[in-house]
Amino acid sequence: MTAARAAILVTGSEILLGRTVDTNSSFIARELDRHGIRVIRTVAVDDHPTSIGDGLRDLLASGADLVVTSGGLGPTHDDVTMACVAEAAGLPVALDERVLARIEQKVAAFAASRGTDPAAYDRGNRKQATVPVGAEVLGPVGTAPGAIVPAGSQRIVVLPGPPAELAQMWPEVVASPLLASLLGGAQPRRVLRLYGVPESEVGDVFADLGGDADGTETTICASRAEIEIVIRHRPDAAAAAAHLADGFRERFGRSLFAEGPERLEEIVLHALRGRSWTLAVAESCTAGLVAARLAEVPGASTVLLGGVIAYADDVKRDVLRVPAATLRDHGAVSAESARAMAEGARRLLGSDVAVAVTGIAGPGGGSDTKPVGLVHVHVAGPGVERALERRWPGTRAAVRDWSATSALHLVRLLVRDA
Ligand code: AMP
Ligand code: MG
Repeated sequence: MTAARAAILVTGSEILLGRTVDTNSSFIARELDRHGIRVIRTVAVDDHPTSIGDGLRDLLASGADLVVTSGGLGPTHDDVTMACVAEAAGLPVALDERVLARIEQKVAAFAASRGTDPAAYDRGNRKQATVPVGAEVLGPVGTAPGAIVPAGSQRIVVLPGPPAELAQMWPEVVASPLLASLLGGAQPRRVLRLYGVPESEVGDVFADLGGDADGTETTICASRAEIEIVIRHRPDAAAAAAHLADGFRERFGRSLFAEGPERLEEIVLHALRGRSWTLAVAESCTAGLVAARLAEVPGASTVLLGGVIAYADDVKRDVLRVPAATLRDHGAVSAESARAMAEGARRLLGSDVAVAVTGIAGPGGGSDTKPVGLVHVHVAGPGVERALERRWPGTRAAVRDWSATSALHLVRLLVRDA
């Protein structure tokens, strides 16, 4: 079976104005990919009925088996997606009493929690319960039901705008009999993630390995000092994909840190936990980013003890006990200070391992010898230590983000090689 093709129609004037960042299309695309559906196009339109109608017609004409929409399902006159979808599918709309009852139940709870009169919602409820005849109604999760609407042999999936509502409704979409013939398993793939390798070198190795074979499709994507290689393949091209994966592994073995989607933070915590080691942080320019990223992982508390945000030199000296002479002779952004910060945090918090980050995030504060983007990272552990100096390009946010990422990697490398 060839993969079904989908198009995504994101609606909302706030998105075209740049006030809301569209996260729904990436959620939908990722989920469709997990079910083996190929997204061929994503389009964003404003809230006008003509924009939505034209968008739907274009995407249905583009050869998509499935069009997924987000947004425009609210109770007011300016939320018009459901009516536009009915028109594009050539279906009449009708008030569905069972859907109305479901909405009223939700609204009653909502009104009670706000102390408002449920009757004030009547008109909106009836609008939201007016759905295309023959559609499968989804939810509602909030007050807006979604729907799966047949349009001839094609399908339109209509989902609400609020990302949390959309995500909560998604399992109903993939369970629907109306989509069963389109959904399959994810296309087989190999994933390799590298740290500390230039993207161009990965490209060269890919060429040396002969590039894509018949039935493989490789993407090489760099972000945050990491490179992700994804080799998608047809089921009958597994050997060709393995040839590429083996070649990359052979060439980049020491730089390979994962062969799957697990997060760097999880990898670091898992490695520390494997040694029964605890971790403390001493953060200057990242001011807590390293600890915050680790704390996003449930169960981080078994490893992460805490840390010191040592932004000012006084804090580096008085709390972390970085010697005044070190700060004076080498400066706060130096290998010597990073090392003393890590040792100080390790002593102060009684952890097995401590990681310190100090750098110049910019845009000001740089000099000829210490330019913006200069970062020193140091990790201290039981009888082992590891240091890193980098000059990151880019904005303040990028420098801080990349510094935190490299600090996490340095911890990982220290544990790996200890
Ligand atoms: P709507 O269902 O169109 O009334 O959207 C309700 C809210 O959902 C909007 O105010 C946005 O905050 C949010 N929203 C809508 N579309 C998106 C999207 N594509 N990505 C992220 N948030 C969205
Ligand atoms: Mg909207």
